[in-house]
Amino acid sequence: MRPLLERLAAGETIVGDGAWGTMLMARGLRPGVPPETLNLSSPEAIEEVAALYLDAGADFITTNTFGGSPLRLRAYGLEDRLEPINRAAVEAVRRAVGGRAYVAASIGPCGHVLKPYGDGDPDEIAGGYARQLEILADAGADLVIVETMTDLTEARLAVEAARRAAPDLPVMATMTFDRTRRGFFTVMGVTIAQAAEGLAAAGADIVGSNCGNGIEAMVEIARELRACSERPLAIQANAGLPESRGGAVVYPETPDVLASWVPALLAAGVRVIGGCCGTTPDHVRALRAAVAAAPPAR
Ligand SMILES: [Zn+2]
Repeated sequence: MRPLLERLAAGETIVGDGAWGTMLMARGLRPGVPPETLNLSSPEAIEEVAALYLDAGADFITTNTFGGSPLRLRAYGLEDRLEPINRAAVEAVRRAVGGRAYVAASIGPCGHVLKPYGDGDPDEIAGGYARQLEILADAGADLVIVETMTDLTEARLAVEAARRAAPDLPVMATMTFDRTRRGFFTVMGVTIAQAAEGLAAAGADIVGSNCGNGIEAMVEIARELRACSERPLAIQANAGLPESRGGAVVYPETPDVLASWVPALLAAGVRVIGGCCGTTPDHVRALRAAVAAAPPAR
């Protein structure tokens, strides 16, 4: 496969995969159990989900390692399983995609608020990300995705750890914003401009937003990002905001709704388009079709 950054530089739009949690729950993941344990107990479930997203047209498939950092695993008494859990995650996706899509190493928040507001020690967090990333890179990941970040300092620690531990891999970093009456902020108070600048300064090749919003708000976020960043932009939207219907959580935006906003995302300079919570292979298929139907980026 041609390197991801070359394809972006040549004007290609890259399509990501969709949600994993709901897909894994349908394959035996129980509430309260860390999803990453499935990498060892049910690698065939991981392969199956990866294959569904590959078949839907995703250019990259994320690994089931969002909570696979040492600090997150420690909360479940699984820190000593760091290496097998992360290695198995990459290997399962690699088997499923067989070189037809990039294997994207997912890195999520460590679950601790940084000092002085919480007990998170920056050196420990950075060191933990570096250990996780060394394993993911060694197992054969093609890119790193630092995602669903709300604290810019933590996001920067993760991006910098990726740059050190996996210097050959492109890094995409996305934060999660909420709409407020004063504009978009992460729950930790980070603005879109601060995120764009800080993530790029830390070494991210691609910056953007994932989770927290449906597709329409993501178009607004993308326009704001474009106004303050020269980097290729990534948007991975939820299928709308979750609603409770008859005791079940439902994400209301259909594949067609998501796809209808693809031209607006492209016009805003978004070059990596994928799904987050509530999205399915059908959403990815619709995004892929809308990207294919759009004229190439200028
Ligand atoms: Zn999400």
